[in-house]
Amino acid sequence: MDFLKYAVELVAVLLLALGIKGLSKVRSARSANQLAAVAMALAVLGLLINYLGTSGISAAAWTWIIIGTLIGGVLGAITAQRVPMTSMPETVALFNGCGGMSSLLVALAAAFFPLQLEAAGLVAVVSIVISVFVGAITFTGSIVAMAKLQGWLSTPAWMQSKARHVVNIALAVASLVAAIKLITDGNGTQGLWLLVVASGLLGIGVTLPIGGADMPVVISLLNSYSGVAAAAAGFVVGSQLLIVAGAMVGAAGLILTQVMCNGMNRSLVSVLFGGALGASAASGGGGGEYTNITSCSVEECALTLEAAERVVIVPGYGLAVAQAQHTLREVTRSLEAAGIQVDYAIHPVAGRMPGHMNVLLAEADVPYEQLKEMDVINPEFPATDVVLVLGANDVVNPQAKNDPNSPLYGMPVLDVQQARTVFVVKRGMSAGYSGIKNDLFDLGNTSMVFGDAKKVLGDLLGELKELGVGKK
Ligand code: NDP
Repeated sequence: MDFLKYAVELVAVLLLALGIKGLSKVRSARSANQLAAVAMALAVLGLLINYLGTSGISAAAWTWIIIGTLIGGVLGAITAQRVPMTSMPETVALFNGCGGMSSLLVALAAAFFPLQLEAAGLVAVVSIVISVFVGAITFTGSIVAMAKLQGWLSTPAWMQSKARHVVNIALAVASLVAAIKLITDGNGTQGLWLLVVASGLLGIGVTLPIGGADMPVVISLLNSYSGVAAAAAGFVVGSQLLIVAGAMVGAAGLILTQVMCNGMNRSLVSVLFGGALGASAASGGGGGEYTNITSCSVEECALTLEAAERVVIVPGYGLAVAQAQHTLREVTRSLEAAGIQVDYAIHPVAGRMPGHMNVLLAEADVPYEQLKEMDVINPEFPATDVVLVLGANDVVNPQAKNDPNSPLYGMPVLDVQQARTVFVVKRGMSAGYSGIKNDLFDLGNTSMVFGDAKKVLGDLLGELKELGVGKK
């Protein structure tokens, strides 16, 4: 039985590692995700084999296992089918929370079986403490993050003051005291509940003051925490697989957090302790009225594109909302057929989740080689004839470079204003995610083409056809 268990777990770990590697490329991401799902199923199988070989599984336990698998499986399948790509950050936050809660429950279950605990000794108690502490923070923090992204929750005024630091430090101290009590007393129930409550409240206290704009960073950090909690739970139940998988998630989450911080030019410390910076950003600087807006028709846009040699497309959140990626691909196909060079400028935080634009454009079969990262494309804008900004806003805001008072100041952006002509396709003059004015729209070489991205691109395709662009 032991051999079978180890064999299943080894295969699962290998598949998991391959899955994570495959996720780094858009083309292989879908199959990599399936590999990781198979790995997860094998992991559960490995654990069941383990129990079958040691204590056995009672009929009552089987009932609970089957009920849990059915409820979780059905909820997961429904969520995966229904949730639109644009709501992915909330969904990821919710799933992170579920991961944290599972680790918390596993640790609590182990703690309430004193016989097992005593047999396992100090390592198990320390693992339980870590699992409960990180699991509870991950659970409550993720639920708060999800509620904030959904717009169900806003930061209370006192949470934006320095007083919150005192409250959070008090909660951290309470957690520490509880952890020490638990480790020194063995299985002290009081210490355990104090740890659950204090660390749960700490998760709320740390996440609640963080503004919406910084939420993606927090979510990837919570993702990393859920991995740490799972690894600790792995020590609790003696599953090497869970330890490895948790460590992988923990490390991957940390790397993602670093990438997100770089993309937004925020340090992790300022995100975690700067509190509601993001929220105040929306109401803070960077405001003002537009004074020099030029709008133009789809026909004028088509004429300019026809005369261009090099065009750069800047996709943003609005393109995803409009689901206009396929129409965009038809437009770029006709431009390419006319010998016009087309590239896509990908900002690391365009859209609402890391890699959002890559996934969106891959759906429409845009060749991967045409997707240019920000650092690669920025020096090429001065040699670009036309930039087509599609439902993007914050990621092309020059304030981020020019206005030290702007809340966006310091965030790396696409320097589209350096191109000869810029067309911005959006429905009206609404602000982007950060809630601030975009100085690009006032510039002399920018023209707004108002309308839903899909409708505008459809009309543009019609105009290009009428002009004979791309016809052999
Ligand atoms: P923004 O949110 O800045 O702007 C999107 C624009 O799309 C809006 O100005 C809106 O204007 C327009 N729009 C909406 N619907 C449509 C439509 N149907 N057709 C045409 N236009 C539409 O998007 P960006 O991609 O530029 O920037 C992403 C922002 O999101 C950044 O601030 C980033 O920090 C943040 N963020 C990123 C995450 C990530 O992981 N990538 C996660 C969470 C937040 P209008 O209403 O006038 O049409």
